[in-house]
Amino acid sequence: MSSDAPTGGSLADRVSKPADTEPATDDGQTDGAVANQGGSDLQEPEYTVEVKLSDLQADPNNPLFSVKNFEDLGLDPRILQGLSAMNFRKPSKIQERALPLLMGNPPKNLVGQSQSGTGKTAAFVLNVLSRLDLTSEQAQKTPQALILAPTRELARQIVGVIQVMGQFLDGLNIGTAVPADTNARPARLDASIIVGTPGTVMDYIKRRIIVAAKLKVIVLDEADNMLDQQGLGDQCIRVKALLPRDIQVVLFSATFPAHVHQYASKFAPSANELTLQHEELTVEGIKQLYLDCASEEDKYRTLVQLYGLLTVGSSIIFVKTRTSAVEIEKRMVAEGHTVASLTGGVEGSQRDQIIDQFRAGQAKVLITTNVLARGIDVSTVSMVINYDIPEIHQTNRGAPRQADFQTYLHRIGRTGRFGRVGVSISFVSNREEWEMLNQIQRYFNTDIQRIDTKDWDEVEDIIKKTIKNTRAQGNFGR
Ligand code: ADP
Ligand code: MG
Repeated sequence: MSSDAPTGGSLADRVSKPADTEPATDDGQTDGAVANQGGSDLQEPEYTVEVKLSDLQADPNNPLFSVKNFEDLGLDPRILQGLSAMNFRKPSKIQERALPLLMGNPPKNLVGQSQSGTGKTAAFVLNVLSRLDLTSEQAQKTPQALILAPTRELARQIVGVIQVMGQFLDGLNIGTAVPADTNARPARLDASIIVGTPGTVMDYIKRRIIVAAKLKVIVLDEADNMLDQQGLGDQCIRVKALLPRDIQVVLFSATFPAHVHQYASKFAPSANELTLQHEELTVEGIKQLYLDCASEEDKYRTLVQLYGLLTVGSSIIFVKTRTSAVEIEKRMVAEGHTVASLTGGVEGSQRDQIIDQFRAGQAKVLITTNVLARGIDVSTVSMVINYDIPEIHQTNRGAPRQADFQTYLHRIGRTGRFGRVGVSISFVSNREEWEMLNQIQRYFNTDIQRIDTKDWDEVEDIIKKTIKNTRAQGNFGR
């Protein structure tokens, strides 16, 4: 059932075998231009919440635990100032472990894995900021670090994080390379950091809109996804072939299934590795539930019944196809509900508007596909619905349906960020789907609790009780 072998001890540092070859590449697709950036939710709200976060960070079993302070990590005072403006008090486990490995000289490659919502972005951004030379105007305009992400939403979010974290670094320019709505030639990206999606970045390097000669670091966020998907993987490999040979390669994700881990080691030769076993990946703050639906149509009725509860915080509904996202949106809107939908079928600038509205809380319910399954950090998301259970696309007809474990984990990880609590609810409408959910439970060695829709008061009770607390209580590590 599972093809993933455990890849190492609990966040144990280990060194991989060197591998220098890269798979051959062929024509990749290009996408297109620069867009404005969105911020992420960076504020820690109330004092009482802070106290609880520090409790979590004091628990050695918690992925947020650390023994060090940011001050111990040798960061530039202006960067420390940025962290303090973001209200980051202490590093998480992944930040504490990855930063010394990343920031050492000569630079070493890193494959870094940690649970969803544990601060991987800051881990790679801090290394990138630390390595920049901003001493001359020329240097400020020369790309020195490249960060690739699978979607425009995630690329824009990372730009937002860098802007806040790097706000005290004079002369810091950040370029965004994501598909544009038009074909107009964009101006050269005179920035020290470039964040983008692989197709656009490749196109820009080829057209010298991005000058790659002085790049010192390349980061792949959601690296397993980037290297595993046919198109994205080829593009990443082709981009890397255009970069300086001695560039530091940094790969981060919550998941590295065994088959991708092999490419990862080729993409990042001789890397230091911080890895986890798949049984360690679930986050205790995310309460996983499922409910039975009688049929496909009954899923819709159930969703509408749940809707009253969805507005407790913000929520994301994941469906399988663009068409069903649009269809559900239309039906709900026709019934007078306020929902938004974002899929790959929507034009770029429109996508930016939708996600920005969702971040701002102007739209509280977002219907989407796997396009937003990864990386998106909106701290107010308290519920994730798997309207359709994520599954592997089977190419041969008649093959048994197979759950997509990684996507399940990333989807539910849109809630429960950095010690907050959240609920995930998966809809099951037949035996096969129930079986897939069981596969997921076994794979992650976790419990997905059934909730009985015969008693909606009880459903409401369970969900509201969980969401009411903004932080996970007590020991939630393994
Ligand atoms: P990941 O990429 O591991 O899923 P993110 O990097 O998106 O997680 O971070 C999740 C959230 O945690 C973000 O809102 C971020 O601002 C917050 N965060 C990260 N590191 C810290 C820290 N050391 N202290 C407080 N909050 C943090
Ligand atoms: Mg992330």
